[in-house]
Amino acid sequence: MSTDTAVHHLKAPVPPEQFEYKNLKQGEFWRHIPAYADVDEATFLDHLWQQRKSVKTAEELLDTIRDVCSPEFYRDAEAGFRGAPMAVRVSPYAIALIDWNDPVNDPIRRQFIPLASTLLPDHPRLTLDSLHEQEDSPVPGLVHRYVDKALFLPLNVCPVYCRFCTRSYAIGPDTAYVDKIPLAKTPKQWNDAFVYIAERPELEDIVISGGDVYQLPPKNIEHIGNALLDIAHVRRMRFATKGPAIMPMKILTHTEWLDALTSIVDRGRTLGKEVVLHTHFNAPEEITWITKEAMRRLFERGIFTRNQSVLIRGVNDTRERMQLLVKRLGHVNVHPYYVYMHDMVKGVEELRTTIATAVDTEKFVRGSTAGFNTPTFVCDAPGGGGKRDVHSYEYYDRENGIAVYAAPSVKPGKAFVYFDPVDRLSAAAQARWASREIQEQMIHDAVRSAGIGDQQLVLA
Ligand SMILES: *Cc1c(COP(=O)(O)O)cnc(C)c1O
Ligand code: SF4
Repeated sequence: MSTDTAVHHLKAPVPPEQFEYKNLKQGEFWRHIPAYADVDEATFLDHLWQQRKSVKTAEELLDTIRDVCSPEFYRDAEAGFRGAPMAVRVSPYAIALIDWNDPVNDPIRRQFIPLASTLLPDHPRLTLDSLHEQEDSPVPGLVHRYVDKALFLPLNVCPVYCRFCTRSYAIGPDTAYVDKIPLAKTPKQWNDAFVYIAERPELEDIVISGGDVYQLPPKNIEHIGNALLDIAHVRRMRFATKGPAIMPMKILTHTEWLDALTSIVDRGRTLGKEVVLHTHFNAPEEITWITKEAMRRLFERGIFTRNQSVLIRGVNDTRERMQLLVKRLGHVNVHPYYVYMHDMVKGVEELRTTIATAVDTEKFVRGSTAGFNTPTFVCDAPGGGGKRDVHSYEYYDRENGIAVYAAPSVKPGKAFVYFDPVDRLSAAAQARWASREIQEQMIHDAVRSAGIGDQQLVLA
């Protein structure tokens, strides 16, 4: 470049920290974990090795991390698992990304490894299936809540188990606290869902989730994909998986799986139907050089990928953290689609945050990158109201942490409420939540202030 044609810059140079989103973890970052010290790149990238070495019990996990964590942390996690509603499963990739010098505050630890010491009491209004998915389920494994789209749940296993899972009522093996509701798990059982979808011409859009489609064998990806593509009125399909966030190497090394997905995407394209991948990154640290290569592979194959995050305290609930996540996703060809309010789920109150925090974060993120890479912040209204823009509440009692939503196209006339975590409220508000009678009063006052009749309130 010539230096004598000086260009006048209106903007000051961007400080290096603004490029942090491009700064992905490089090299063999797993080797600092004693259990993986001898693992070479080919082995670490092998999806079968990742599956085999995923820890599936608290004991296995504790064994793997014994040498990297303090005895206090170990005892804390041991006690945490004893009371947790979700089963345990963590991939070596995720374990290697945890900062073991400070595991208590680590964003990946927070998502997968419960600690007894950080537990908070559940919100007094919390239930197990807060989204009431079972009420909108005409056949096992299918949720038909919205007019033109449905959620198909063909399996109940995942490559990891997230502490905050909204489907802890069904996902993973039974735990000491929860006997899981059965979903349809075999091709024969799936047939009922296909028949139902075929009989509902309004259904244009099918989400295939679970569980997690990462755990579906390639032949079942093809079976489900083709069965849905064969239904004339189905126009759009999304395969949903947490996989790329916690085991991205499968995209690179499980060729048959990626080929199966590609074949459905390609067949969809020839039929004029959209088939995409939806994934679930929450922390910027989940995106490494391996992720970048995996997302590149999807991009090359023309597999469009969108992301749905959960807003989680201590993971991505600040302006800077969310901006970093959103920019990093865009950088690796993933479109940030949604950021969800954390559902009202048992045993994870310390991971939830307030509607006010979501609104503030959303305001900050909007404008920092392309509009199509800017996620919509939504609250899946407890009680089955469906997703609402977080800032579209009819009324928000900030002091007591009660947001009231309406869902005119989903459940006309009804009111739905989301509750902020009580520990985030003032001492006076916390005292009010201690009384059942005052709770009722506060909720009913909020619904009335929203201009909705009291009797229209749907509680989770
Ligand atoms: C989220 C969801 C969908 C898909 O909704 P979009 O807003 O289109 O992403 C469909 N069905 C159910 C039950 C859902 O929870
Ligand atoms: S991957 Fe999804 S379905 Fe599975 S445990 Fe995590 S949030 Fe739940």
